[in-house]
Amino acid sequence: MNKAVFLDRDGTINVEKNYLYKIEDFEFIQGVPEAIKLLNDAGYLVIVITNQAGIARGYYTEEDMHKLHRYINQELIKYGAHIDAYYFCPHHPVHGIGEYKKDCNCRKPKTGMLEAAIKDFDIDVSKSYMFGDKEWDVEAGERMGVLGFRVDEHENELLQKVKTIVEREYIENK
Ligand SMILES: [Mg+2]
Repeated sequence: MNKAVFLDRDGTINVEKNYLYKIEDFEFIQGVPEAIKLLNDAGYLVIVITNQAGIARGYYTEEDMHKLHRYINQELIKYGAHIDAYYFCPHHPVHGIGEYKKDCNCRKPKTGMLEAAIKDFDIDVSKSYMFGDKEWDVEAGERMGVLGFRVDEHENELLQKVKTIVEREYIENK
C-alpha cells in the first residue's frame, strides 16, 4: 500500500484569487514547491483534491482548469517536484449550470474524490495526511480516517508542517 499527502489547491498550493483559472493569475504560496519536493523524496504520493465550483458556475471550463494544472506541473519541474494526480469536483448543488448542478458525492466536505484516490492508488489512510485552508478540507480527510491539518497562506507554513511529518517518520523508522 502507498502513503499519500492530499492537498487542497486554492489557498493551500496557490494564493487564493477567487475562481482562479488564468495562468497569469497563478502564484505559488511561498514554500509550497519545496514542500511537494520533500514529500516526493520521502515517498509520499502528492494528490490534489479540489472543489472547482467555478466550472459549475460557468466561469471557466474543465479544459481551462486542465491547462492550469499542466502549467503547475511544468512549474514544479523547476523544483524537481511533481504532483501525482489531481481530483476535482466541478459541481455545485445550487449554483451549478446544467449538468453541473448536482448534489454530488465529491464536493468537499464529502469524500468522493478522496475515496476515488484511495482506491486508484491503493492508499493506506493511516499513513496519509490532508492539508487545506478550509475546515471542509480537514473534515473530508477525517471522514476517511486521514489526519487533516488546516494551513493558510502564511509563508512556509505547509513546508514547516511537512518537514515535521517527514522528520518524525525518519526518527520512527530509524
Ligand atoms: Mg482552498
